[in-house]
Amino acid sequence: MTGYDTVFRARRMVTPAGETSGCVGVADGRIAAISPLGAGLDGRRVIDLGEDLVLLPGLVDSHVHVNEPGRTEWEGFATATRAAAAGGVTTIVDMPLNSIPPTVDVAALEVKRKAAEDQCLVDVGFWGGAVPGNRGELRGLHDAGVFGFKCFLLDSGVDEFPPLRPSDLDGYMETLRGFDGLLIVHAEDATTIGQAPSCHGGRYPDFLSSRPRAAENLAVAQVIQAAGRAGTRAHILHLSSSDALPMLAGARRDGVRVTAETCPHYLVLTAEEVPDGATQFKCCPPVREASNRELLWRGLADGAIDCVVSDHSPCTPELKRLDIGDFGLAWGGISSLELGLPVVWTEARRRGFSLTDVVRWMAEGPARLLGLQRKGLIELGYDADLCVFDPDQAFVVDPARLHHKNPLTPYDGHRLLGVVRGTWLRGEELAGQRPRGHLLTRGGA
Ligand SMILES: [Zn+2]
Repeated sequence: MTGYDTVFRARRMVTPAGETSGCVGVADGRIAAISPLGAGLDGRRVIDLGEDLVLLPGLVDSHVHVNEPGRTEWEGFATATRAAAAGGVTTIVDMPLNSIPPTVDVAALEVKRKAAEDQCLVDVGFWGGAVPGNRGELRGLHDAGVFGFKCFLLDSGVDEFPPLRPSDLDGYMETLRGFDGLLIVHAEDATTIGQAPSCHGGRYPDFLSSRPRAAENLAVAQVIQAAGRAGTRAHILHLSSSDALPMLAGARRDGVRVTAETCPHYLVLTAEEVPDGATQFKCCPPVREASNRELLWRGLADGAIDCVVSDHSPCTPELKRLDIGDFGLAWGGISSLELGLPVVWTEARRRGFSLTDVVRWMAEGPARLLGLQRKGLIELGYDADLCVFDPDQAFVVDPARLHHKNPLTPYDGHRLLGVVRGTWLRGEELAGQRPRGHLLTRGGA
């Protein structure tokens, strides 16, 4: 058959069956055919990929803080989605806080959607927020298309997004159970952190001891227990403490509906290597010891961790307080939307993992978390969201060449493997100019 809009001829591509070769025929923005390389699919446009390139599904990043409107000087939809496109990411889901208003009711969601409209290079969905007093808003937000609800169990860093108490979890989960909603949790326990030494100054070990593993471990346990009691789906955001992995695996064996993600920085950076005063490394929960990092990789290998997503959380350079290098005062957050794929791939390859593994963690896993039916795989009927990746090409990270608004990064000067050569959304190449992204709703993509 001929007449596809575009045909990709790939000597290497990552499909649900693993890495293979083949042709992908695209019609009306969807994957309409997958055939052996010799099958001679023809299209109006043929993209013949060389031996050095691999066709991947576009990545899905379910953890991005866009911050617009309200803190658009931190990040915005135009710059965040440009960074996503440059990084091979074709779908992002925006966190409900750091924008003003926070996404805690339908009116605020509408404000967000209005702000995002006509600006997005890639597809964008939205998380809602679960905060004290808004239990009555959750159903409306769910019906309006948010993918689930984020809560904190300690100070979020911004006044307009207060945390839930652990004792609130049961009530919120009960409400969510009514419509099979998903609660995603920043799992650090406020009391444990309150009792830990507070952090002042530029020494990273002081910051690390102010956010102990025990705080994460306790909060993860509380979420698992509440999810188990309610039968509600829960998801642990940005897992840093490897201590929690056996608990997560055990809970799942017991039938608790709990999943977990970690982030590139926890898999690559180590506390031992953070220079004094280098607040570009500050995030919460913190980057921990090398030994912890090794166990997180094991958690990915054995399936205790489902996804790797960026937690792209930028701010203005002033808020990082690099002038004084104070880990206590600096805003916490690492921006790696554009760099996630090469950062993870560089370290994964060194450890003997394949691109199929990376795709499972960074495309398929997040798509499943979000319930996206047509994204995260190269599969018939799926959106033709694709990334052309050159896995052996090395480059050195230069912040000046990054696309997000405030390109401060702890990866500055890192030599990474893997260059994104092109990103395609619904069969159209994202060359960086025209916003083609859709605003996604739960169940609609
Ligand atoms: Zn976050």
